[in-house]
Amino acid sequence: MSQAIFDGVSKTYPSGTDSLTVLRDVSLTFQAGESVAIMGPSGAGKSTLLNILGTLETPTSGHVTINQHDPFSLSEKALAGFRNESIGFIFQDHHLLPQCTALENVLLPTLVSSDRSSAIDRAHSLLEKVGLADRLDHKPAALSGGERQRVAIARALINRPALLLADEPTGNLDRGTAGRVVEMIFELQRQEGVTLVCVTHDDSLAARFDRRLELVDGSLNTNK
Ligand code: ADP
Repeated sequence: MSQAIFDGVSKTYPSGTDSLTVLRDVSLTFQAGESVAIMGPSGAGKSTLLNILGTLETPTSGHVTINQHDPFSLSEKALAGFRNESIGFIFQDHHLLPQCTALENVLLPTLVSSDRSSAIDRAHSLLEKVGLADRLDHKPAALSGGERQRVAIARALINRPALLLADEPTGNLDRGTAGRVVEMIFELQRQEGVTLVCVTHDDSLAARFDRRLELVDGSLNTNK
């Protein structure tokens, strides 16, 4: 089943009196449960593609379908709900709230749900799976870079999203730590059956995905 479809998606930003085209007529399909690496040089449009897939940015033209829905036809409020339920994000920087503990950070996306006790159970279970069962009450400042990123992985999965999006998730980590974080992402992706789309510069990381797509100057390189 296709999880997400881009049909002729373009993105243009205004730039002074001119405009900057960042994505050019990109068409692609992500299948449910697959893992896809998005590669390409800096400035090629990789983050923009991921942000449109994550419904954080709107395309200038073309159509996006996620789980058989056009997310951009929803009201802002409905889109926020759809995003919260359907899409998990892991950024290069962990984006954790400094005043919240690991457990509280993982629970943030569940605050709108009514079933507190099952949300708390799931947060405990995910934090255990990422090896942080003994760090539940630690705030981000008391965690290492790798541990913060593992909290971010648990937070991204708390609502059982269909899509897990990662933008250079190991870009700020040393090689050894990055390797362990990657193992964790793949292990959880397999367990949860989530579709994983990841922007990366790292060839050895990209080699582990089911598919690799390359963006060059906003266009998909179909020779890859
Ligand atoms: P990549 O992730 O491949 O490095 P990006 O998608 O981040 O590329 O950016 C592609 C181009 O779009 C860059 O030239 C960047 O400066 C430009 N860009 C990204 N976001 C914006 C924005 N909000 N406004 C204007 N230009 C932007």
